[in-house]
Amino acid sequence: ADEALVEGRGDFGDEEAGQSKAVGVIAVVGRPNVGKSTLVNRILGRRASVVEDTPGVTRDRISYDAEWAGRDFKLVDTGGWETDVEGIDSAIANQAEIAVRLADAVILVVDGQVGLTASDERIVKMLRASGKPITLAVNKVDDNASEYLAAEFWKLGMGEPMSISAMHGRGVGDLLDAAMKTLDEANTASGTLTPSGLRRVALIGRPNVGKSSLLNQLAREERSVVNDLAGTTRDPVDEIVDIDGEDWLFIDTAGIKRRLHKLSGAEYYSSLRTTAALERAELALVLFDASQPISDQDLKVMSQAVDAGRAVVLVFNKWDAMDEFDKQRLERLWKTEFERVTWAQRVNLSAKTGWHTNRLANAMRQALDSWDKRIPTGKLNAFLGRIQGEHPHPLRGGKQPRILFATQASSRPPRFVIFATGFLEHGYRRFLERSLREEFGFEGSPIQISVNVRE
Ligand code: GDP
Ligand code: GDP
Repeated sequence: ADEALVEGRGDFGDEEAGQSKAVGVIAVVGRPNVGKSTLVNRILGRRASVVEDTPGVTRDRISYDAEWAGRDFKLVDTGGWETDVEGIDSAIANQAEIAVRLADAVILVVDGQVGLTASDERIVKMLRASGKPITLAVNKVDDNASEYLAAEFWKLGMGEPMSISAMHGRGVGDLLDAAMKTLDEANTASGTLTPSGLRRVALIGRPNVGKSSLLNQLAREERSVVNDLAGTTRDPVDEIVDIDGEDWLFIDTAGIKRRLHKLSGAEYYSSLRTTAALERAELALVLFDASQPISDQDLKVMSQAVDAGRAVVLVFNKWDAMDEFDKQRLERLWKTEFERVTWAQRVNLSAKTGWHTNRLANAMRQALDSWDKRIPTGKLNAFLGRIQGEHPHPLRGGKQPRILFATQASSRPPRFVIFATGFLEHGYRRFLERSLREEFGFEGSPIQISVNVRE
């Protein structure tokens, strides 16, 4: 009966399959103090107090899930970090360049109370060169009487300046409407960029783990730059890399090769880039420098990939530089720090010598197979019925929550919805995940389980 219930829905949930579907990315840029953070907080519906971040402290997150008029998009917040780069002008230049490179569309914020400045004009020049669609927001126009403040910004030649008050919310809705429209244009324009059929790979890891070395080792002479193929000048640059006779699309290789980590604010840049690359990727190659102690930053990058719902292959690089001590240290860490990803395949290799790089392709294929996998509803329910019989949920207050039926709502990554008669406790969910993995595989892919309680 359970089977029939779900069958009628066909491929129910497929529209949600799009963890991997690219949503638009909007970057909010502008010189310091114009109100970027206030605007971002306003859009996210957060309390203004979040703005009071300690200056110079790199934020944990720079890209946020946002929603407007029923539509999801990513918001890249570039406010609040300028102070850790020397010289305001270079800070502005870098900020605008990086944020814009990663975004599909831009909201440029200027300060209506201060008026047009030379810095604003410099930013506009850079934005123009990027070719990304721009919406101009004149902030701090707090009431109707101040409307006239916006007029001056027509001079920028960016079309209509939209007056807003990020602090009071005034005009922010109209601004978002306009920004969403530019996002649509951007999506149509770049729709042909990615060659179809190739799997999209993000090569990630903190600075100096060997990303560009690995890319060079893999690509040798055989890589081609995708921008040329698509006939666009859009950054980031993706490259087709042949591994073991199969072509893969590596995302934002320009970012990998560019030595931005030599600049200050390196962690910020690399974190921005990771977020953006993951956004577009299906699979993450997470690189570690195995000859060094694994750092929190390493683990954070790994978590980002898992949380983004990407297929994952863990790569321990610089194996040629390891001694016995290093190896023992790593094996100890493996048991403690990597518990969260015991399902991921691990490849020890040397980007420098090429040792074991031929093992990557198999691990990548396996991870993506898992990521794509769909378990038929009948099979899933037969299995859950069996393990529930063998290991029922512990009694809770005299009652025993029971699984009624389950379905795989989507793949990429696999997401299961379980309908139960009561709340399933954490330990039992973990048990279910382990059991599903043992039965059906899923090596290399995160899986998500949500429980729907039917009273
Ligand atoms: P950011 O450096 O561009 O991120 O700017 P912030 O968001 O930190 O804002 C800089 C200052 O401008 C803060 O003191 C805000 O309270 C103030 N501010 C931001 N938006 C508005 C606004 O709409 N009206 C007024 N009057 N002040 C604002
Ligand atoms: P990225 O910042 O992650 O792109 O790292 P790079 O590729 O620039 O590498 C950082 C440093 O590590 C460079 O000095 C590389 O030569 C070195 N390196 C990279 N891979 C290996 C490796 O497999 N073995 C050794 N011994 N050094 C490596």
